[in-house]
Amino acid sequence: MSLRSALAVALAVVLTGCSSEPERTEAPISAALESQETGVKILLVGIDGATFAVLDPLLANGELPTFGRLIEQGARAQLLSDRPMKSPALWTTVSTGRDRKQHGVESFTSMVEGSDVPVLANATMRRALTVWDMLGAAGRSVGVVGWWATWPAEPVRGWLVSDRMTRSRWSEWSDGVKQDGLTYPAELADELLPLIVDPLDPPMDEVRKIIDLDASDEAEFRGATRPIRAHGLSVLKFALSTQLTYERITDHMLAKGQPEFAAIFLIANDAVSHNFWHYHQPDRFEGVDPRRLARLAPVVSNVYRRNDDYLASLLGRVDDSTVTIVISDHGFRASGKLPSTGDRKRLRGAFTEEFSEDEDGLEVVTVGQSGIHHPEGIFIASGGPIVAGSSTEATLIDLAPTLLALMGLPVPEDLPGRVLTEIVDPAFLERFPIRTVPSYERLIDRDALRAGADNENDESTLEMLRSLGYIQ
Ligand SMILES: [Zn+2]
Repeated sequence: MSLRSALAVALAVVLTGCSSEPERTEAPISAALESQETGVKILLVGIDGATFAVLDPLLANGELPTFGRLIEQGARAQLLSDRPMKSPALWTTVSTGRDRKQHGVESFTSMVEGSDVPVLANATMRRALTVWDMLGAAGRSVGVVGWWATWPAEPVRGWLVSDRMTRSRWSEWSDGVKQDGLTYPAELADELLPLIVDPLDPPMDEVRKIIDLDASDEAEFRGATRPIRAHGLSVLKFALSTQLTYERITDHMLAKGQPEFAAIFLIANDAVSHNFWHYHQPDRFEGVDPRRLARLAPVVSNVYRRNDDYLASLLGRVDDSTVTIVISDHGFRASGKLPSTGDRKRLRGAFTEEFSEDEDGLEVVTVGQSGIHHPEGIFIASGGPIVAGSSTEATLIDLAPTLLALMGLPVPEDLPGRVLTEIVDPAFLERFPIRTVPSYERLIDRDALRAGADNENDESTLEMLRSLGYIQ
C-alpha cells in the first residue's frame, strides 16, 4: 500500500466516522480489519474452462499426478458457474465475491462513455473491492498474475501483473495492446518484459506438447499473424503464448518471495477446448475427419497434462503452509457443430504473405467452435486446514469469503457467498472462529487507491496506520 492510499484509507475512516447515517454503528477500522494469524498462505490457480469431464478419465488412468495428489489430500467439488458464462464477469465474481451486476464487469466488452467502439473488460469497470484489496488493507502481502480485467494495474500491497502484460487473443480482438498500467508497481513491467513469449514466435517444443502439427498445420500455425476468432491454430498460438508468459512471470516473482496470497490465471485450456473439442469427443459430432482425428484426439487432454506439469512445478515454489486452490470459471461440453471452412475474405491479412500465397493452404482454414461452455467448473483445495477427502457445494461467489476466513480476516456481511466450512478442519474453525464485519467497501476508498499509484515506502505507511490505530 502506498502512502497516498494509506491516507485514503485514513480519510475514508474519517468520512465514515462523520457520516450522517446515525442508525448504523460501524465498528472502528482497527477492530474491523483486525485479522487473526492463521498461518495460512493461499495459492489460487485459475484454469479457464477446466472440467472434471476431462480430468476424471485422465485421473483414473493415473495421468494427472499433481491434480490427483491435490484431490486425494484435499477437497474436490463442482464449482457452479453463473450465466451467461462470460469469463471476465466470472473471474471478477471470484475475485470480488459479488455477481456481475454488483461488480460491474459484465462481459468481454462493454460500451463506455467516450468511446464509440466496445472496450475490452478492464479494471476501471470494476466497482467492487477484490480479495487482494481486502487482504492488503489488513496488512497481508499479495501477488496477482494475469487475472481477467486487472488492467490497468491498481495499487496493491505487493505486486500485480495485469492481463495486458502480453498480447492476448482478447486484447488483439478488441482495443489492442496498451503500454501503460501493465503492472503494479509500474517499474516491474521493465523487469518482466524479457519474460514475454512472442506469440508470433512461440517456443515450438511447448507447442508440440499440446498438438502434433503436420506440415500443412504447421505452415498455417506459423503463418498466422493474429488470432482469428474460432480458428483453432491461430487462437492456440496466442493463448498458449499468453499462458507461457504468465507462468514464467509467476515463477520469476515467486523466486523473489512468496506473498501470503498469490493468484495466477491460465488461459490455454479455454482456447483449446473451444476449438478442438470435436477431436476430444468425436462421437458427439458427425463427420470428424478420421485422419485428423488420429493425430488430434489428444489435444484437449494434452492441455490438462501440460497444466498438471506446471502445477507440479508451481507447488515446488510455495511453502508447506500453503493452501492450494485450483478452480475454473465454467466447464465445457460439445456444441455438436463441426468447424467449417472459413470466409477467405475475412481472413485476408491474418496470415503472412508467404502463407497467403498458398491457395490450397487457405482453403483448409476452418472456423467454428466445437466446444462450448458448461456451467459445471472445478474446485480443488488442498493443504493447511483443508480436510482430505472432503467435498462441498460451491459457487463462484463462495471463493472470496472462504479465502478471507482461511487467512483469518473477518468476512464481510455484504458479500452474498459463504465460507465453505465443510472442507475446513473443525479444530481450525474452533481456534480461528469466523468473524464478520458489515462491509469492507466503506473501509477502503478504492478511487483513492487507484489515484495513489505511487510507490512510496511501505513500512512507513504501515507504521503510520499503526500509529493511527487503524491496523495492528
Ligand atoms: Zn471460453
